[in-house]
Amino acid sequence: MFTHGHVDHIYAVPLLERAQSDPCHVIAHERTPERFRRYERTNGYNAAINQRQFQLAAPLFPGDYRYPDEVYRDTLGIRASGLDLVLHHARGETDDGTWLWDPAHRAVLTGDLFIWASPNCGNPQKAQRYCDEWAVALRRMAALRPELLLPGHGLPIAGAERVQRVLTETARYLESIFDQTIDAMNTGATLDEILHSVRPPADLDDAPWLQPVYDEPEFVVRGIWRLYGGWYDGNPAHLKPAPDDAVAAEVASLAGGADRLARRALELSSAGDHRLAGHLIEFAGRAAPADEEIRRARATVFAERARQERSTMSKGVFSWAARSASPGPKG
Ligand SMILES: [Zn+2]
Repeated sequence: MFTHGHVDHIYAVPLLERAQSDPCHVIAHERTPERFRRYERTNGYNAAINQRQFQLAAPLFPGDYRYPDEVYRDTLGIRASGLDLVLHHARGETDDGTWLWDPAHRAVLTGDLFIWASPNCGNPQKAQRYCDEWAVALRRMAALRPELLLPGHGLPIAGAERVQRVLTETARYLESIFDQTIDAMNTGATLDEILHSVRPPADLDDAPWLQPVYDEPEFVVRGIWRLYGGWYDGNPAHLKPAPDDAVAAEVASLAGGADRLARRALELSSAGDHRLAGHLIEFAGRAAPADEEIRRARATVFAERARQERSTMSKGVFSWAARSASPGPKG
């Protein structure tokens, strides 16, 4: 049974087959094969972004997929290892998600719908996530009053009250980000206004299972915007923009040189304004790509920014920028 087609969840099959000397009968949601075909088509892209996201030494993404033997659409009851299990489809981290209910043990197997961290619901370099449907799935699990929660990553959680708490609080976290984003979209706000105003519920700031150490809420807002709005962010300069290098050259010339932009970026970085520092150093780097001093300043600004960040995704992108010789994702 694959809870979804992410590559950290599908490669145990040969090991199991070797251990039991019988072929496995793999069940997955009906969208999983489509995901594998997409991975096959975008192998180079996924290798490159995983290298950035996880700070790997080389591009890495598998190319061979074990397609399921059986797929289902909404729910499916199965008997496996002497247990009656119910498979439920939910879109959340992926469009092919499955969570399982084991009534005999009152256990819920969440897949990646629960991972002991702020949900991976906005991943900047990967395909669409489904914030609102994710929350619905967590509410459905909670309604079954489970006594045991077996997550996609991290330790199990035992005890009805504790399980109820993590499920409903994670649901409320996602619902809050979703409602704030959609309500603002309904007033005609731009993506920029929404990104800088939406915050998760303050009373959940300290919840150990919701810390933004992998993904983060700001990226969830972008995912909701992309799903319900589109890619246009409301800034007309961004609809059909000039090339980044042309904007950088113009700004550098207005500022009196790329070196002035770089100096100011270092000042802003030291003062703690890492967002603004990032813009200025990127202009400087693009306006004078061969300038050694500017390259060093750029490495400093992004290394410091990576140090300030908590999430794997932000640390990955900023560390990559710090290590790369020149601007742009390829470095
Ligand atoms: Zn996972």
